[in-house]
Amino acid sequence: MRIGVYAHRCKDRKLVPFMLDLQYDVDLTACNTFGFRVVAERFIRIDELGQLPPLCDHCEKERLPLLLLGGGSNLVLSERLPGVVAQMALSGWRVEELGDGESDVTVGAGVPWPATVERALDEDLYGLENLAMIPGTVGAAPVQNIGAYGVELKDRVRYVEGYDRHTRQFIQLSQADCAFRYRGSVFKANPERYIITAVHLRLSKTPALNLSYAALEEHCRMVAGDKGVITPRHVFTAVCQLRQSKLPEPAEIGSAGSFFQNPVVSEAHYRELKVKFPSLVAHPDAHGYKLAAGWLIEQCGWKGKRLEQVGVYEKQALVLVNLGGGDRAQIERLATAIQVSVQERFGVLLEPEPRFYP
Ligand code: FAD
Ligand code: NAP
Repeated sequence: MRIGVYAHRCKDRKLVPFMLDLQYDVDLTACNTFGFRVVAERFIRIDELGQLPPLCDHCEKERLPLLLLGGGSNLVLSERLPGVVAQMALSGWRVEELGDGESDVTVGAGVPWPATVERALDEDLYGLENLAMIPGTVGAAPVQNIGAYGVELKDRVRYVEGYDRHTRQFIQLSQADCAFRYRGSVFKANPERYIITAVHLRLSKTPALNLSYAALEEHCRMVAGDKGVITPRHVFTAVCQLRQSKLPEPAEIGSAGSFFQNPVVSEAHYRELKVKFPSLVAHPDAHGYKLAAGWLIEQCGWKGKRLEQVGVYEKQALVLVNLGGGDRAQIERLATAIQVSVQERFGVLLEPEPRFYP
């Protein structure tokens, strides 16, 4: 069933009726990468900025919760979603050359992230190669400051455009305003406040490779072969190959990527653990030491294990998977069991990375 909700927006300084096309009881099973059976009570596709003010007014007036949905690759959803689910489908790609080999690229929130990385590379705009093949949309990328192989989105963001539900204004947030941190940002900390509409990236015609991850550098050398000189295209190919060798393809096996964040512990705690577990995988971090959560989980014997219809991916223990017919409750039971065993063995609490909704 579809209904139109009339609201008003400002056009040529006049109030004009604006129709919000809400659909009811929409199946979102194909819109979350876990592949859980999910139904949205109300659903709307956002493909114009003008939809946002009346939508937010409507939700506030009717006291309806609002979930912004991108590609559903970092969400753990319940079977029935109350309120409104707004799928962000804003398009757009604009390049502004700055004259010194640098370019500002503005990309709409609904554009798929993997296609953005590929298009930038095709247009000889470098800087995103290490972030190849991360599922989802451009609008969600700042939310958890996506990162892989030593590069984070924050390294390439100039500012983010959005709609502030508190002030009811369209706004721009500078890189500093976004308060980016490891797998987090002001957007992740305030999920009810900001709707990201576009992201401005600063990319370069001059390659500046980040090969700080040993596995990536080694694989790049193999991809580059005899010619020896590693190019951004080689990095892109190497990242794609490494990811394909370790991660489940969402269309085949449901997951949300890494289920837990890598925990950061104090230097003293790290040293204590390193004495007890000499093969501990850890990297120095601004706040202490970042432990590889996948290694902790594997050491507790979880890799490849199944519990009900969900499990721990056999090639990467940090990834929890839907083996067919699983749901949020089963993933929560599995996640809790893993947290308990890691806490008991290493004294470290693993925090989930995806958002649980509602
Ligand atoms: P969704 O899952 O739809 O939403 C995630 C959050 O963002 C929700 O809170 C949602 O409400 C909010 N949101 C969505 N759109 C907007 C918007 N326009 N404005 C404001 N809020 C919004 N992550 C990494 O960091 N690095 C990786 O290497 C990585 N690899 C992955 C591999 C696999 C196989 C999978 C399944 C996931 C992986 N992820 C990774 C996690 C995920 O892909 C990213 O977090 C991605 O940015 C989520 O995008 P999405 O569009 O699917 O967001
Ligand atoms: P990996 O290369 O086997 O490394 C294992 C862990 O060690 C990772 O967690 C990584 O931290 C850390 N690490 C490795 N080299 C490092 C270095 N030089 N400096 C600092 N930390 C280092 O990891 P992987 O599982 O194959 O994943 C490869 C990359 O893809 C990682 O960056 C990972 O975060 C990313 N990824 C993320 C998701 C997600 O959903 N968030 C899913 C799949 C892959 P970091 O995780 O902090 O990089």
